[in-house]
Amino acid sequence: MSRIDLHTHSTASDGTNSPGELIDLAHATGLTTIALTDHDTFAGWPAALAAAEGYDMEFVPGVEMSCASDQGVSMHMLGLLIDASHAPLTEAISLSRDDRIPRMKKLISNLRAAGLDVSFSELSANVGEEVTIGRPHLADLMVTKGIVRDRDQAFAEYLHNDSPYYVGHYAIDGTLAVQLIKASGGVSIFAHPGAYLRGEVVTFDYIAELAHHGLDALEVDHRDHDADMRKQLRNLAHELDLLVTGASDFHGTGKLNQLGENLTDPAVWQELRSRANRVA
Ligand code: AMP
Ligand code: ZN
Ligand code: FE
Ligand code: FE
Repeated sequence: MSRIDLHTHSTASDGTNSPGELIDLAHATGLTTIALTDHDTFAGWPAALAAAEGYDMEFVPGVEMSCASDQGVSMHMLGLLIDASHAPLTEAISLSRDDRIPRMKKLISNLRAAGLDVSFSELSANVGEEVTIGRPHLADLMVTKGIVRDRDQAFAEYLHNDSPYYVGHYAIDGTLAVQLIKASGGVSIFAHPGAYLRGEVVTFDYIAELAHHGLDALEVDHRDHDADMRKQLRNLAHELDLLVTGASDFHGTGKLNQLGENLTDPAVWQELRSRANRVA
């Protein structure tokens, strides 16, 4: 039986398991296909691929790109089966990844101004240079320093999108991300499009715009969507002729999400795979 999880994170970004550990866990959980989709980086692919080969598991190279809508709403686009040597795509993700450093410094200086004892040097001592740095890393530092209990509390009290300390970072337009993913031979899935509890979400009109630019699928079955949102998104996918996927968005111990808690239908995965490398 196939068990397909198309959205996971490792220590190459803000997951807590190394790529190899992630694949070990995926094997233990009985996954047959796993996509590694770290934020704005491909750095975890080689180790994950090597580990997956040992288990005869299907490994899908992927990325979760930081994007913004036409209204400036932050959103995430998954690109799967992309070509890591496609320069326009790698340049786009490097811009987001690199801008996360000055952004993190500003966020930390806002917290210091409010009296919190955190610094960028402490943060960078714990996070490798190749790693896509994000708020969860800062949350981990706050846990280590006894400021908060866990990542959840750090986000609830200090780091959420509407907090007074929040700072955004460079992100490309969502329609451009869809085009770059396609041009590099991959397929695009809009990650957790209706996760409104985490912050503002894009309009259904903008999702139609993404579909017009060649978006392949909506990630409907995701922990951050309640039953009503899943129903609305399923209807929208049907209207716009988009495929529907499900995935865990596993981050290791940093979040409740468990590997394989949401899965993608094997027929949908087969269709996505058949579209890869088919440049329009
Ligand atoms: P950033 O990439 O720095 O904007 O941070 C966003 C990341 O924080 C995403 O990967 C989310 O999964 C993660 N995140 C958001 N809210 C929480 C939370 N309450 N607990 C743990 N991680 C979270
Ligand atoms: Zn993340
Ligand atoms: Fe995301
Ligand atoms: Fe994610």
